[in-house]
Amino acid sequence: MTGHLHPITLAIARISDIFSKMGFDTVDGPELEDEWHNFDALNVPADHPARDMQDTFWIKDRRGLNKLGGEVGHVLRTHTSNMQIRRMEKYVAEGKELPIAICCPGKTFRNEATDATHEAQFHQVEMLYVAKDASLSMMIGVIEKFFSEFFGTDLVVRLRSSYFPFVEPGNEVDMQCFKCKGSGCNICKQTGWIEIGGAGMVHPKVLEAGGINSSDYRGFAFGCGIDRMVMLKYGIEDIRLLYSGDLRVVNQF
Ligand SMILES: [Zn+2]
Repeated sequence: MTGHLHPITLAIARISDIFSKMGFDTVDGPELEDEWHNFDALNVPADHPARDMQDTFWIKDRRGLNKLGGEVGHVLRTHTSNMQIRRMEKYVAEGKELPIAICCPGKTFRNEATDATHEAQFHQVEMLYVAKDASLSMMIGVIEKFFSEFFGTDLVVRLRSSYFPFVEPGNEVDMQCFKCKGSGCNICKQTGWIEIGGAGMVHPKVLEAGGINSSDYRGFAFGCGIDRMVMLKYGIEDIRLLYSGDLRVVNQF
């Protein structure tokens, strides 16, 4: 008797495949992360609300020293963006030639109440490109190709100005509705667009934290929720179904 792959596992394989065809390597790293890689290096200040006990799972009795000799705590990573820093550090440490082109699908964690659209554990995919010629227009092209391949129809995206500490400028990413292609339906709440992720040009401080010279190199990054993509694609209305272990769900994929 053969088993079934979970729909999230299938989605991660598909996402890796799509990015691979665009020249991006798939990487993953620690889910238990230090403060430096999860927050400081990503330009998230010490007093940022994301560090609050309310939002982050902090790990007791797991303290070490940061690069400056100060104490550093550990968290269950709140995003896959920690891999941006880890990959830049690796390139610099190994003297590898840029560009860096990676996608990082993986588990992330938030200390929050569970409901139909929120789980304490969920999945994100992060995309990072660092090169001398990285530009916003390239970023839009990569994101449009990614969603078009995943949802199986040509889609455009639009950017809305937003703020994330690790990008400047930062943008919310809206994807054209894959169902109605913009004319309005129940999935997009009649707007023709679906809010799907965040993106932007990598903040120079983040490049520097990764050991990259921000005068010579630029980067763009994008992140979005894999659970949400799966729920949209297959019309699943409650995220908890994806984690219930219910074979009646899994057997449909
Ligand atoms: Zn629609």
